[in-house]
Amino acid sequence: MHQSVLEPGLPPVPDFDAVAERYRAFERTLAGGSTVAAVETVREWDGLRRELETWSSLTNLRFTQDTRDPAARAARERVDEASAVIKGYDTAVKRRLTVSDARPSISAAIGRHAFDLWQNDLATYDPAIEADLVTEAKLRAEYTQLMAGIEVDFAGERLNLSGLQKFQSDPDRAVRHGAATAQWDAMGERAAELDALFDRLVRLRDGIARTLGFDGFIELGYARMRRMDYDRAAVERYRDGIRAHVVPIAFEIAERAAKRLGIADFSRWDEQFLGLNAPPRPRGDAPWIVHQTIDGFAEIDPRLGDFARMMNRGELLDLVARPGKAGGGYCTSFPTLGVPFVFSNFNGSSGDVEVLMHELGHAFQMYRSRALPSVDYLVPTMETAEVHAMSLEFLAWPLMERFFGDEADAYREQHLASRLVFLPYGVAVDHFQHLVYERPEATPAERHAMWKSVERRYLPWRSYGDLKRPGDGAFWQGQPHIYRSPFYYIDYTLALCCAMQVWVQAGDDPTGTFERYATLCARGGEAPFRTLVTDAGIVEPFDPAALPAIVAKARAALAL
Ligand code: ZN
Repeated sequence: MHQSVLEPGLPPVPDFDAVAERYRAFERTLAGGSTVAAVETVREWDGLRRELETWSSLTNLRFTQDTRDPAARAARERVDEASAVIKGYDTAVKRRLTVSDARPSISAAIGRHAFDLWQNDLATYDPAIEADLVTEAKLRAEYTQLMAGIEVDFAGERLNLSGLQKFQSDPDRAVRHGAATAQWDAMGERAAELDALFDRLVRLRDGIARTLGFDGFIELGYARMRRMDYDRAAVERYRDGIRAHVVPIAFEIAERAAKRLGIADFSRWDEQFLGLNAPPRPRGDAPWIVHQTIDGFAEIDPRLGDFARMMNRGELLDLVARPGKAGGGYCTSFPTLGVPFVFSNFNGSSGDVEVLMHELGHAFQMYRSRALPSVDYLVPTMETAEVHAMSLEFLAWPLMERFFGDEADAYREQHLASRLVFLPYGVAVDHFQHLVYERPEATPAERHAMWKSVERRYLPWRSYGDLKRPGDGAFWQGQPHIYRSPFYYIDYTLALCCAMQVWVQAGDDPTGTFERYATLCARGGEAPFRTLVTDAGIVEPFDPAALPAIVAKARAALAL
């Protein structure tokens, strides 16, 4: 029996005069100095933030479910405008709370970490940068629109770049090469715009950082990601660790793949074929995949099975691609309802199973941690959130026979190999951004040279053959995070280093490993990254012992 948890359609827009009045009341009470009243105000403020969060995530969900609906588009624009205003209100409350005499009592009620997060947020915002933030948001949207507007004629179809993606794993090498050529020819036509747009973003971000009193954007970038227990030096050592321990095995994976495929000039367009066989297709449609998932999860742990059943019965899954739906996959949640939602675009490939396990990992965390006492703990920082998601991809390995039958090993090999090869790419993106923001005055040509230097360092197998644009150092222009979310990328690699340890542990002790995973999920973001993973029995990625241990296990699993 299915019963949708969500009301259909767009949620009602909050009364913003009333919202403004509530924020003014919070400020008055906090200025009054009563500890009891301050603790109560924090509780009410938290409740209001949960309401606003539910409204904005439900509005965003409805827009991505049908991007052609003008009402949904207008509602989403309303959310964007409101969030800038709400950020200002929240900043004022945070500023009062961090200097409040009631601080010990509030800490006792909701934990100390919230104060650390608020202190961090205060350093990243000042009314003096408001106009610059609006410009930054516009430039980010310009990148998205520019990329979304690129269309190519290929294989008899008019396609956008995401439509072209499916040809990356075409078994016919000539088709893959043709698709890559079409993509980079089309991006090459917009080369000057892509360079100019990035140049404006880099200079703007550098200016924002200096207005806020930072020496440059790198430090502000870290603060925006709410990183508070590791710094640039730790990240640099981690990248060196990837270079020393992971680049060699990634190189071997690429070499072996080339040999198996009988390709002398293994190129960018062959990189989807890292396993022994082509990635298998799931042996059923979306409802069948969901039912296999529910039954399989119940075998791993009853809590996980009940959770998946709840998601399905509550109609909290929108999985299959359809016209008008936005691309990609993501997980969101509605704090006042206490439920998450998974959105994806199934297309019949092995990626369907992978994305479902990944997003359900995010969802399981959001569900487990829904009752934490501060809205700031519901979604942790990104490197931690990705541990929840990527770990479930690995914890679900024993279920792969359900989806792929006798091709389950082919799925697992491809999954592991592609994750290992991703690690060097992930740190290359991170290293590049450090070089860029260290020298904001660099020319576009100098930035392309910077990318080529990190490619040589971390991706020694990478060849673009006759593709001129990426061969000249432009590959990074297809990576949206570099334009949209600076310094958000190393997070995936830090999380993967943790998730692969969960994979190793689950091989020896599935029950104990799942228990630690479930506890980690229930803690959401109530503590910083290193504390959370260490408490969960994971060696933190900055420990020099972490990478060699997982690489040794992967080497054995891949028979390298
Ligand atoms: Zn994720």
